[in-house]
Amino acid sequence: MNDTSSEIQNQNIRIASSSCLLGQEVRYDGAHKLNGYMKRSLADYFEFVPYCPEVAIGLGIPRKPIRLVKGNGEVRVVGTENPDLDVTDQLAAYGEKVVPELKGVSGYIFKKGSPSCGMERVKVYNDAGNPVDSASGKYAETIMRLLPQLPVEEEGRLMDPRLRENFVERVFIYHRWQKLVDKGLSAAGLVDFHTRHKFNVLAHDEPAYRELGRLVADAGKGDIEERIGPYITTLMAALKKIATPKMHANVLMHIMGFVKQHLESDDKQELIELIDSYRLEQVPLIVPITLIKHYLRKHPDPYMDQQYYLNPHPKELMLRNHI
Ligand code: SF4
Repeated sequence: MNDTSSEIQNQNIRIASSSCLLGQEVRYDGAHKLNGYMKRSLADYFEFVPYCPEVAIGLGIPRKPIRLVKGNGEVRVVGTENPDLDVTDQLAAYGEKVVPELKGVSGYIFKKGSPSCGMERVKVYNDAGNPVDSASGKYAETIMRLLPQLPVEEEGRLMDPRLRENFVERVFIYHRWQKLVDKGLSAAGLVDFHTRHKFNVLAHDEPAYRELGRLVADAGKGDIEERIGPYITTLMAALKKIATPKMHANVLMHIMGFVKQHLESDDKQELIELIDSYRLEQVPLIVPITLIKHYLRKHPDPYMDQQYYLNPHPKELMLRNHI
Protein backbone atom coordinates (compact mmCIF):
# COMPACT_ATOMS: atom_id res chain seq x y z
CA MET A 1 0.00 0.00 0.00
CA ASN A 2 1.55 3.35 -0.94
CA ASP A 3 1.45 6.53 1.13
CA THR A 4 -1.78 8.02 -0.19
CA SER A 5 -3.84 4.80 -0.19
CA SER A 6 -3.15 4.17 3.51
CA GLU A 7 -3.68 7.84 4.37
CA ILE A 8 -7.14 7.98 2.75
CA GLN A 9 -8.65 5.47 5.21
CA ASN A 10 -9.94 6.10 8.74
CA GLN A 11 -10.24 9.85 8.66
CA ASN A 12 -12.57 11.68 10.95
CA ILE A 13 -14.46 13.69 8.32
CA ARG A 14 -17.69 15.48 9.15
CA ILE A 15 -20.29 16.50 6.55
CA ALA A 16 -23.33 18.65 7.28
CA SER A 17 -26.63 17.47 5.82
CA SER A 18 -30.28 18.39 5.67
CA SER A 19 -31.74 16.46 8.65
CA CYS A 20 -34.52 14.85 6.61
CA LEU A 21 -31.95 13.09 4.39
CA LEU A 22 -30.62 11.34 7.48
CA GLY A 23 -34.04 9.91 8.31
CA GLN A 24 -35.15 12.54 10.80
CA GLU A 25 -38.91 13.15 10.60
CA VAL A 26 -38.69 16.89 10.26
CA ARG A 27 -40.46 17.58 6.96
CA TYR A 28 -43.51 19.83 6.83
CA ASP A 29 -45.70 16.69 6.75
CA GLY A 30 -43.79 14.93 9.54
CA ALA A 31 -42.05 12.56 7.12
CA HIS A 32 -38.36 12.06 6.38
CA LYS A 33 -36.43 11.68 3.12
CA LEU A 34 -33.80 9.16 4.15
CA ASN A 35 -31.18 8.88 1.43
CA GLY A 36 -30.12 5.27 0.98
CA TYR A 37 -26.76 6.05 -0.64
CA MET A 38 -25.75 8.38 2.17
CA LYS A 39 -26.81 5.83 4.79
CA ARG A 40 -25.44 2.69 3.10
CA SER A 41 -22.19 4.00 1.61
CA LEU A 42 -21.14 7.49 2.63
CA ALA A 43 -21.91 6.97 6.32
CA ASP A 44 -19.03 4.44 6.50
CA TYR A 45 -16.60 7.29 5.81
CA PHE A 46 -18.29 10.46 6.99
CA GLU A 47 -19.95 11.57 10.19
CA PHE A 48 -23.11 13.47 9.25
CA VAL A 49 -24.11 16.59 11.14
CA PRO A 50 -27.86 17.31 10.72
CA TYR A 51 -29.42 20.74 10.25
CA CYS A 52 -33.11 21.50 9.67
CA PRO A 53 -33.45 25.26 9.26
CA GLU A 54 -37.26 25.28 9.18
CA VAL A 55 -37.51 23.49 12.52
CA ALA A 56 -34.66 25.62 13.90
CA ILE A 57 -36.56 28.85 13.20
CA GLY A 58 -39.59 27.48 15.03
CA LEU A 59 -41.93 26.44 12.22
CA GLY A 60 -42.76 23.19 14.02
CA ILE A 61 -43.63 19.66 12.82
CA PRO A 62 -46.00 19.29 11.06
CA ARG A 63 -46.22 22.75 9.53
CA LYS A 64 -47.82 24.48 6.60
CA PRO A 65 -45.59 24.34 3.49
CA ILE A 66 -43.58 27.34 2.35
CA ARG A 67 -42.25 28.27 -1.10
CA LEU A 68 -40.17 30.82 -2.98
CA VAL A 69 -42.21 33.69 -4.39
CA LYS A 70 -40.98 36.53 -6.60
CA GLY A 71 -42.49 39.93 -6.16
CA ASN A 72 -41.16 43.48 -6.51
CA GLY A 73 -37.95 42.10 -8.02
CA GLU A 74 -36.95 39.97 -5.05
CA VAL A 75 -37.44 36.37 -4.03
CA ARG A 76 -38.99 35.77 -0.60
CA VAL A 77 -39.83 32.60 1.30
CA VAL A 78 -43.51 32.71 2.21
CA GLY A 79 -46.34 30.39 3.22
CA THR A 80 -47.94 28.52 0.31
CA GLU A 81 -51.40 28.99 1.81
CA ASN A 82 -50.64 32.10 3.84
CA PRO A 83 -48.47 34.60 1.92
CA ASP A 84 -48.38 36.84 5.00
CA LEU A 85 -46.08 34.29 6.62
CA ASP A 86 -42.61 35.49 5.47
CA VAL A 87 -39.61 33.60 6.89
CA THR A 88 -36.96 34.90 4.48
CA ASP A 89 -35.04 36.88 7.07
CA GLN A 90 -35.25 34.16 9.74
CA LEU A 91 -33.82 31.55 7.35
CA ALA A 92 -30.99 33.86 6.31
CA ALA A 93 -30.25 34.75 9.95
CA TYR A 94 -30.18 31.07 10.90
CA GLY A 95 -27.74 30.40 8.04
CA GLU A 96 -25.47 33.14 9.40
CA LYS A 97 -25.69 31.61 12.86
CA VAL A 98 -24.73 28.14 11.57
CA VAL A 99 -21.69 29.30 9.54
CA PRO A 100 -19.21 29.34 12.48
CA GLU A 101 -20.23 25.74 13.34
CA LEU A 102 -19.49 24.67 9.77
CA LYS A 103 -15.80 25.56 10.14
CA GLY A 104 -15.43 21.96 11.38
CA VAL A 105 -17.21 20.25 8.49
CA SER A 106 -15.73 19.40 5.10
CA GLY A 107 -18.88 19.37 2.96
CA TYR A 108 -22.64 19.84 2.95
CA ILE A 109 -25.37 17.72 1.32
CA PHE A 110 -28.59 19.65 0.80
CA LYS A 111 -32.11 18.40 0.10
CA LYS A 112 -33.07 19.24 -3.47
CA GLY A 113 -36.11 21.35 -4.27
CA SER A 114 -36.53 22.83 -0.78
CA PRO A 115 -37.24 26.57 -0.47
CA SER A 116 -34.88 26.49 2.52
CA CYS A 117 -32.28 23.81 1.73
CA GLY A 118 -32.29 23.54 -2.08
CA MET A 119 -28.86 24.20 -3.59
CA GLU A 120 -30.20 25.31 -6.97
CA ARG A 121 -33.18 25.14 -9.31
CA VAL A 122 -35.81 25.48 -6.61
CA LYS A 123 -39.06 26.64 -8.21
CA VAL A 124 -39.91 30.31 -7.76
CA TYR A 125 -43.59 31.25 -8.11
CA ASN A 126 -45.35 34.49 -8.91
CA ASP A 127 -48.15 35.86 -6.77
CA ALA A 128 -50.67 33.93 -8.86
CA GLY A 129 -48.95 30.66 -7.95
CA ASN A 130 -47.34 29.93 -11.32
CA PRO A 131 -43.68 28.85 -11.53
CA VAL A 132 -41.73 31.66 -13.21
CA ASP A 133 -38.11 31.14 -12.26
CA SER A 134 -35.72 29.10 -10.15
CA ALA A 135 -33.27 29.92 -7.35
CA SER A 136 -31.47 28.46 -4.34
CA GLY A 137 -33.28 27.89 -1.07
CA LYS A 138 -32.76 30.83 1.27
CA TYR A 139 -30.83 29.00 3.98
CA ALA A 140 -28.63 27.14 1.47
CA GLU A 141 -27.99 30.35 -0.45
CA THR A 142 -26.75 32.01 2.74
CA ILE A 143 -24.41 29.11 3.59
CA MET A 144 -22.97 28.98 0.06
CA ARG A 145 -22.47 32.75 -0.08
CA LEU A 146 -20.66 32.90 3.25
CA LEU A 147 -18.63 29.69 2.75
CA PRO A 148 -17.88 29.64 -0.99
CA GLN A 149 -15.06 27.11 -0.60
CA LEU A 150 -17.14 24.49 1.21
CA PRO A 151 -17.92 21.52 -1.09
CA VAL A 152 -21.72 21.35 -1.45
CA GLU A 153 -24.01 19.01 -3.34
CA GLU A 154 -27.63 17.90 -3.47
CA GLU A 155 -28.75 14.38 -2.72
CA GLY A 156 -30.47 14.10 -6.12
CA ARG A 157 -27.29 15.04 -7.99
CA LEU A 158 -25.33 12.48 -5.96
CA MET A 159 -27.05 9.80 -8.03
CA ASP A 160 -25.00 10.99 -11.04
CA PRO A 161 -21.69 9.05 -10.93
CA ARG A 162 -19.56 11.98 -12.14
CA LEU A 163 -21.12 14.52 -9.75
CA ARG A 164 -20.86 12.02 -6.89
CA GLU A 165 -17.19 11.31 -7.55
CA ASN A 166 -16.52 15.02 -7.91
CA PHE A 167 -18.17 15.86 -4.57
CA VAL A 168 -16.37 13.14 -2.61
CA GLU A 169 -13.00 14.09 -4.10
CA ARG A 170 -13.58 17.73 -3.14
CA VAL A 171 -14.54 16.73 0.41
CA PHE A 172 -11.33 14.78 0.93
CA ILE A 173 -9.16 17.53 -0.53
CA TYR A 174 -10.91 20.25 1.49
CA HIS A 175 -10.55 18.16 4.66
CA ARG A 176 -6.80 17.88 4.11
CA TRP A 177 -6.65 21.63 3.58
CA GLN A 178 -8.56 22.27 6.82
CA LYS A 179 -6.15 20.05 8.75
CA LEU A 180 -3.18 21.87 7.23
CA VAL A 181 -4.58 25.28 8.13
CA ASP A 182 -5.40 24.11 11.67
CA LYS A 183 -1.78 23.07 12.13
CA GLY A 184 -0.57 26.45 10.93
CA LEU A 185 0.20 26.87 7.26
CA SER A 186 3.81 27.52 6.24
CA ALA A 187 5.17 28.25 2.76
CA ALA A 188 6.70 24.75 2.74
CA GLY A 189 3.35 23.26 3.79
CA LEU A 190 1.55 25.02 0.95
CA VAL A 191 4.13 23.84 -1.60
CA ASP A 192 3.82 20.25 -0.35
CA PHE A 193 -0.01 20.36 -0.40
CA HIS A 194 -0.01 21.78 -3.91
CA THR A 195 2.58 19.34 -5.21
CA ARG A 196 0.61 16.34 -3.97
CA HIS A 197 -2.61 17.54 -5.62
CA LYS A 198 -1.16 18.63 -8.96
CA PHE A 199 -2.67 15.82 -11.00
CA ASN A 200 -6.05 16.22 -9.30
CA VAL A 201 -6.17 19.85 -10.41
CA LEU A 202 -4.85 19.11 -13.88
CA ALA A 203 -7.74 16.68 -14.45
CA HIS A 204 -10.28 19.40 -13.64
CA ASP A 205 -8.97 22.69 -14.96
CA GLU A 206 -5.68 23.24 -16.79
CA PRO A 207 -5.68 27.09 -16.66
CA ALA A 208 -6.33 26.92 -12.89
CA TYR A 209 -3.49 24.39 -12.59
CA ARG A 210 -1.11 26.99 -14.07
CA GLU A 211 -2.58 29.80 -11.97
CA LEU A 212 -2.18 27.78 -8.75
CA GLY A 213 1.40 26.97 -9.75
CA ARG A 214 2.14 30.71 -10.00
CA LEU A 215 0.57 31.37 -6.60
CA VAL A 216 2.65 28.64 -5.00
CA ALA A 217 5.85 29.70 -6.74
CA ASP A 218 5.48 33.03 -4.93
CA ALA A 219 4.66 31.39 -1.59
CA GLY A 220 8.10 32.11 -0.09
CA LYS A 221 7.85 35.81 -0.94
CA GLY A 222 5.92 38.07 1.39
CA ASP A 223 3.17 37.11 3.80
CA ILE A 224 1.92 33.52 3.47
CA GLU A 225 -1.45 34.61 4.89
CA GLU A 226 -2.02 36.64 1.73
CA ARG A 227 -1.55 33.54 -0.46
CA ILE A 228 -3.97 31.33 1.44
CA GLY A 229 -7.25 32.99 0.37
CA PRO A 230 -6.54 33.18 -3.37
CA TYR A 231 -5.04 29.67 -3.37
CA ILE A 232 -7.93 27.82 -1.74
CA THR A 233 -10.57 29.86 -3.59
CA THR A 234 -8.97 29.09 -6.96
CA LEU A 235 -8.42 25.44 -6.02
CA MET A 236 -11.95 24.71 -4.86
CA ALA A 237 -13.49 26.53 -7.84
CA ALA A 238 -11.28 24.48 -10.18
CA LEU A 239 -12.19 21.19 -8.55
CA LYS A 240 -15.90 21.93 -9.03
CA LYS A 241 -15.42 21.60 -12.79
CA ILE A 242 -16.15 18.04 -13.81
CA ALA A 243 -13.06 16.18 -14.99
CA THR A 244 -13.84 14.76 -18.43
CA PRO A 245 -12.45 11.48 -19.84
CA LYS A 246 -10.26 13.59 -22.14
CA MET A 247 -8.75 15.48 -19.20
CA HIS A 248 -8.24 12.30 -17.16
CA ALA A 249 -6.63 10.65 -20.20
CA ASN A 250 -4.25 13.61 -20.44
CA VAL A 251 -3.28 13.14 -16.77
CA LEU A 252 -2.85 9.39 -17.25
CA MET A 253 -0.46 9.99 -20.15
CA HIS A 254 1.56 12.34 -17.89
CA ILE A 255 1.67 9.67 -15.18
CA MET A 256 2.69 7.04 -17.69
CA GLY A 257 5.86 9.08 -18.13
CA PHE A 258 6.89 7.97 -14.61
CA VAL A 259 6.86 4.25 -15.46
CA LYS A 260 7.36 3.93 -19.19
CA GLN A 261 11.14 3.54 -18.99
CA HIS A 262 10.54 0.30 -17.06
CA LEU A 263 8.03 -1.15 -19.53
CA GLU A 264 8.53 -3.45 -22.50
CA SER A 265 7.22 -1.91 -25.70
CA ASP A 266 4.17 -4.24 -25.80
CA ASP A 267 3.25 -3.32 -22.19
CA LYS A 268 3.64 0.33 -23.06
CA GLN A 269 1.41 -0.12 -26.09
CA GLU A 270 -1.21 -1.94 -24.02
CA LEU A 271 -1.30 0.88 -21.48
CA ILE A 272 -1.64 3.52 -24.20
CA GLU A 273 -4.50 1.57 -25.77
CA LEU A 274 -6.22 1.22 -22.40
CA ILE A 275 -5.97 4.96 -21.74
CA ASP A 276 -7.42 5.54 -25.19
CA SER A 277 -10.28 3.11 -24.52
CA TYR A 278 -11.03 5.05 -21.37
CA ARG A 279 -10.93 8.36 -23.26
CA LEU A 280 -13.47 6.91 -25.69
CA GLU A 281 -15.58 5.82 -22.67
CA GLN A 282 -15.30 2.13 -23.57
CA VAL A 283 -13.94 1.24 -20.10
CA PRO A 284 -14.26 3.09 -16.76
CA LEU A 285 -11.44 5.13 -15.23
CA ILE A 286 -10.62 2.42 -12.71
CA VAL A 287 -9.28 0.19 -15.54
CA PRO A 288 -6.26 2.24 -16.70
CA ILE A 289 -5.71 3.49 -13.12
CA THR A 290 -5.42 -0.11 -11.88
CA LEU A 291 -2.84 -0.98 -14.52
CA ILE A 292 -0.80 2.17 -13.81
CA LYS A 293 -0.90 1.44 -10.08
CA HIS A 294 0.26 -2.11 -10.80
CA TYR A 295 3.30 -0.79 -12.69
CA LEU A 296 3.99 1.79 -9.99
CA ARG A 297 3.92 -0.96 -7.35
CA LYS A 298 6.52 -2.89 -9.34
CA HIS A 299 8.56 0.23 -10.09
CA PRO A 300 7.91 2.66 -7.22
CA ASP A 301 8.42 6.34 -7.77
CA PRO A 302 8.66 8.59 -4.69
CA TYR A 303 6.96 11.52 -6.46
CA MET A 304 4.00 9.42 -7.62
CA ASP A 305 3.70 7.75 -4.20
CA GLN A 306 2.80 11.16 -2.83
CA GLN A 307 0.16 11.97 -5.45
CA TYR A 308 -3.45 11.93 -4.24
CA TYR A 309 -4.69 11.56 -7.81
CA LEU A 310 -4.13 7.80 -7.68
CA ASN A 311 -6.03 7.45 -4.37
CA PRO A 312 -8.43 10.40 -4.07
CA HIS A 313 -11.03 8.56 -1.96
CA PRO A 314 -11.52 5.10 -0.40
CA LYS A 315 -11.56 2.43 -3.11
CA GLU A 316 -14.49 0.71 -1.39
CA LEU A 317 -16.74 3.57 -2.54
CA MET A 318 -15.97 2.40 -6.11
CA LEU A 319 -16.43 5.91 -7.44
CA ARG A 320 -14.04 5.41 -10.35
CA ASN A 321 -15.81 2.22 -11.42
CA HIS A 322 -18.64 4.27 -12.87
CA ILE A 323 -16.97 7.23 -14.56
S1 SF4 B 1 -35.34 20.12 3.38
FE1 SF4 B 1 -34.30 21.26 4.98
S2 SF4 B 1 -35.90 22.47 5.94
FE2 SF4 B 1 -36.94 20.88 4.76
S3 SF4 B 1 -37.24 19.22 6.23
FE3 SF4 B 1 -35.33 18.81 5.19
S4 SF4 B 1 -33.79 19.73 6.54
FE4 SF4 B 1 -35.76 20.59 7.13
